[in-house]
Amino acid sequence: MTADPDGWLTSTLARVALRVQEGRVRSIGYPGAIDQDFTPLLPLFNVLLNNVGDPEVAGLEPRHVKDVERDVVRTVASLFGGTHAEHWGYVTSGSTEGNLFGLQLARTRYSDGVLYYSDAAHYSVAKAARLLGMRHALVPATTTGEMHYDALGEAVASHGRRPAIVLATAGTTMTEAIDDLGLIAKTLDQAGASERHVHVDAALSGIPLAVAGSLAAPRLRGDTGADSICVSGHKFLGAPMPCGVVVARRIHVAGIARGVSYLDSVDSTITGSRNGHAALAMWYVLHRLGIDGLRRRAAASRALALHTVQRLTDHGYDAWRHEHAFTVVLPTPSERLVRRWALASAEGRSHIICMPGITADHIDAFVAELAQG
Ligand SMILES: *Cc1c(COP(=O)(O)O)cnc(C)c1O
Repeated sequence: MTADPDGWLTSTLARVALRVQEGRVRSIGYPGAIDQDFTPLLPLFNVLLNNVGDPEVAGLEPRHVKDVERDVVRTVASLFGGTHAEHWGYVTSGSTEGNLFGLQLARTRYSDGVLYYSDAAHYSVAKAARLLGMRHALVPATTTGEMHYDALGEAVASHGRRPAIVLATAGTTMTEAIDDLGLIAKTLDQAGASERHVHVDAALSGIPLAVAGSLAAPRLRGDTGADSICVSGHKFLGAPMPCGVVVARRIHVAGIARGVSYLDSVDSTITGSRNGHAALAMWYVLHRLGIDGLRRRAAASRALALHTVQRLTDHGYDAWRHEHAFTVVLPTPSERLVRRWALASAEGRSHIICMPGITADHIDAFVAELAQG
């Protein structure tokens, strides 16, 4: 044991644990599921698990769980209709990295392409465009958060014959809106953009839509299939560390992979050393719950979101949600409530996200405080 003569290490850890526990029950504004128990994985947290390099090339570093990572990638890819033969992917540090990876693929395919994304897209998209030095055009979103397809068509047409790189969102940050891949494909067809790459940022909603068999779920194949899709692992899956998965068409990935003799592996990922525990955490949730369990969990979240809208409208608040969404949008309440309940807010609107583990008791406690003003 580490020496801790005056108990400072122990008391600090106890204080942190208390603060985190208190925060958990009021975390209704940011999308992290809180219902999963990772205790069975704890014995593995005392060892380094580094999936450095390509998940499909074992490499020299023996302390990895790339077999588990490949299972996670295959499971997530198949949710979106992907196959091992056609699709490759890896466990990321989150959807920020997933978006950067997808856009890197697109820019490598089309160095003269123009990136289009809506003003409801996540802020990581603008950052990725800056990092990659991509030419880009911002497309307006509707008031409910969906990309404005006519405006997309005009923007694409105004860039002449340049390849179109479209970043679509499945579950926008503020309203959980879903950009329609069918309408995006039709718009690009009409604008004559045959050279195209579509990346879907499905950080929050990709898995819940897919397990529900929703027609709005992004797909990896077919006429309106995406070239790359990313999801977060600490949102719907509830992993205890920020993480995610990105999946892309294999034929695109060949353009970015580089052999590295130092690793005896292939450098195809954005970060070199990668978190093996994240792969384990996602693998554990995916298989412990299975598709049926994930589907039931998503349905419970949607039911709670419906309850939330009803409670808020009963109290005279102008609350609404998209039909598939865990997210409830409401007019921004007082600064005190925004802080106390960690409500993400923008332009006079706030949201509550009914992630798995949030209960009607949490929601009713919030509504009661809101009603008191
Ligand atoms: C959360 C989120 C991101 C960022 O994902 P991280 O995993 O936190 O990096 C990107 N896009 C959307 C739509 C998100 O909800």
